[in-house]
Amino acid sequence: MVQSSVLGFPRMGKLRDLKKATEAYWADKISRDDLLKEGKRLRLEHWKIQKDAGVDVIPSNDFAFYDQVLDHIQLFGVVPERYTKYGLDPIDEYFALGRGLQKPAQDGKPAIDVPSLEMVKWFDSNYHYVKPTLQDNQVFKLATQPKPVVEFLEAKEAGITTRPVILGPVSFLTLAKADRGQTTDPIDQLEKLLPLYVELLAKLKEAGVEDVQIDEPVLVFDLPAKSKAAFKPAYEKIGSLGNKAPRLVLATYFGDIVHNIDVLPALHSLYGIHVDLVRNPEQLETVIGALGPKQVLSAGVVDGRNIWKTNFKTAIEKVELAIQKLGKDRVIVATSSSLLHVPHTLESEKSLDPEVRDWFSFAVEKASEVVVIAKAVTDGPATVREALEANAKSVQARASSKRTNDPKVKERQAAVTDEMHNRKSPFPTRYAAQTKSINLPLFPTTTIGSFPQTKEIRIQRNRFTKGEITPEEYEKFIEKEIQDVVKIQEELDLDVFVHGEPERNDMVQYFGERLVGYVFTTHAWVQSYGSRCVRPPIIVGDISRPAPMTVKESKYAASISKKPMKGMLTGPITCLRWSFPRDDVHQSVQAQQLALALRDEVVDLEAAGIQVIQVDEPALREGLPLRSGKEREDYLTWAVKAFRLATSGVTDNTQIHSHFCYSEFQDFFHAIAALDADVLSIENSKSDAKLLKVFTNEAYPRHIGPGVYDIHSPRVPSEQEIKDRIEEMLEYLRPDQLWVNPDCGLKTRQWKETKAALTNMVNAAKFYRQKY
Ligand code: GLN
Ligand code: ZN
Repeated sequence: MVQSSVLGFPRMGKLRDLKKATEAYWADKISRDDLLKEGKRLRLEHWKIQKDAGVDVIPSNDFAFYDQVLDHIQLFGVVPERYTKYGLDPIDEYFALGRGLQKPAQDGKPAIDVPSLEMVKWFDSNYHYVKPTLQDNQVFKLATQPKPVVEFLEAKEAGITTRPVILGPVSFLTLAKADRGQTTDPIDQLEKLLPLYVELLAKLKEAGVEDVQIDEPVLVFDLPAKSKAAFKPAYEKIGSLGNKAPRLVLATYFGDIVHNIDVLPALHSLYGIHVDLVRNPEQLETVIGALGPKQVLSAGVVDGRNIWKTNFKTAIEKVELAIQKLGKDRVIVATSSSLLHVPHTLESEKSLDPEVRDWFSFAVEKASEVVVIAKAVTDGPATVREALEANAKSVQARASSKRTNDPKVKERQAAVTDEMHNRKSPFPTRYAAQTKSINLPLFPTTTIGSFPQTKEIRIQRNRFTKGEITPEEYEKFIEKEIQDVVKIQEELDLDVFVHGEPERNDMVQYFGERLVGYVFTTHAWVQSYGSRCVRPPIIVGDISRPAPMTVKESKYAASISKKPMKGMLTGPITCLRWSFPRDDVHQSVQAQQLALALRDEVVDLEAAGIQVIQVDEPALREGLPLRSGKEREDYLTWAVKAFRLATSGVTDNTQIHSHFCYSEFQDFFHAIAALDADVLSIENSKSDAKLLKVFTNEAYPRHIGPGVYDIHSPRVPSEQEIKDRIEEMLEYLRPDQLWVNPDCGLKTRQWKETKAALTNMVNAAKFYRQKY
């Protein structure tokens, strides 16, 4: 029989219960016991959901109070001494690693002040994991009560047999780094770590575990040679336990493993291999061909990364293909990855239009999907006829819906020409025109868009959403906010103003709400890191812009200011990446639709007298495919084209800015340059100014504003610090090329520190203006 399986379940609970509990614990509002109890309640509830759905293979140890990699850091004792020295309770040490800890001295105990470990995006998702940091002489030590064992027993006690999930040794070390001041290459410590895996697996077996899911997602990367070579010794050692260990299913996801297929022979002793057949269905045959003679294939056919209902017909076809080659006993139907990346349940969405609601499937619903598919291929489609028919109907309805297909949008896309991606003139000509029309001093100062989003702003927005104040009242309120920030910018003597974005709840949602083709949920939260969740809007159909989205506010702001007012838009790639995209058309098509909508907005802003327009693309880098080569280049090609299509409709006189929140450009600088933005502002204050070398002279003739101070902290940088920063930048950039601005928007800051920091920034710029 073909089994059904889930690789992991979201932890937050139906109403973000885990977020509420952890935050309450951090604020000392609930006890440690209460927190632990809430974790237990959630685990049990999630196991029950899957059991009731009929899932055969239910995961355990997929739960984490903060992050699953952080769990492993503690499991193997990879905790730097700066955390262990306080002798904290394990859960408090755990949170200290995840989010840092500051505590004054108390009852004879010393003060505590430790920052968190670094957090990094988990593959190309918006989930962040805590990066393990190793010492040169790292001593690994297995926790006395290993969490995977404890949680397995907890489920067993509730009458539910689970398959514990653990992160494999090669991935754990490949995703790790040397602690500061250390030089170790973590993978070199494999031999020391392996005995702990052996010990852990033996303990799991003793506890009654039959199967373990061991995640080795790094197999989808272009692996460093050492990591790749590590698989053989690692799994030989682990395999040496024979039947003293549970059977292992090694899981990969978010990419294909074809380029690392030569690793598979070293994994033949394992019970099974899981691959992502949603992202890379074409790897199926190669992977089947590389399996050991008895090995099982776990076929990831239900998307763990997106919210669309699975197309049962195509999923069943994939599974049938595997069955033909392997037989029913060697195939498992699975989610493509953990369901961590999708919201909890569609049940909670009470106000979604029923037409589109029928197209979605969140974690609870996806658990049922694997069951239906497994049953269809085991007992025949007739046994699940109703489910298959309803699914076919829904898939058909979506494909032919007016909401997904807008002939006008398609017509417009067909009419896009190469020329539409190019500004009228090359940069030197444009720049000459802009110098005349905009008239800026040397070292122009500006900000990135948002000013503090005060409590008052949130209150008024809430009242407006609830209908407690009229649109007119709200508009008046926003105008007043704009007046205030304009006045403040005048006092600060900045050169290019912004309107402050007080009307925006979120830089993607705000635009989504004004575009046709998007829908919004009320409860569809997804964990981003720790207790932080995001609620991405969903792109359901062809995108178009029924009316201007930002012109009113920008025009008003310009009308009351003496200096140039910068229009502020979110770029096509960021709108795409920070939403749930469609899975029925290529992302490049969606990006182009967004670009055309934004192009109209850019042109309308220009017509309204806005001469400087910034199009933010902070998500451009995150979309970069995991492996170098053709796929990555293809992405960059269409992403750059989308940006250029959005911004090239203007005359030479209009200055186009763009903004990014990272400084790692090395691997795709050519794409940044190809955006052809007149001015770029980038996060830079915490990085080495040397990185700016790529922007020197011929390589980058246009203008650039590397952030001169960090906006993530309330700390006010002194004028001298900013001058020092500018001085460093001038080692690599021409004075006439350099803008002076903060790292990013100021919405999370308070006014007090904002004014102080910007005062120092403007003074520093003026100093250099004098000097040159
Ligand atoms: N314009 C946006 C702001 O200032 C940019 C935010 C971002 O880059 N993440 O808030
Ligand atoms: Zn930013």
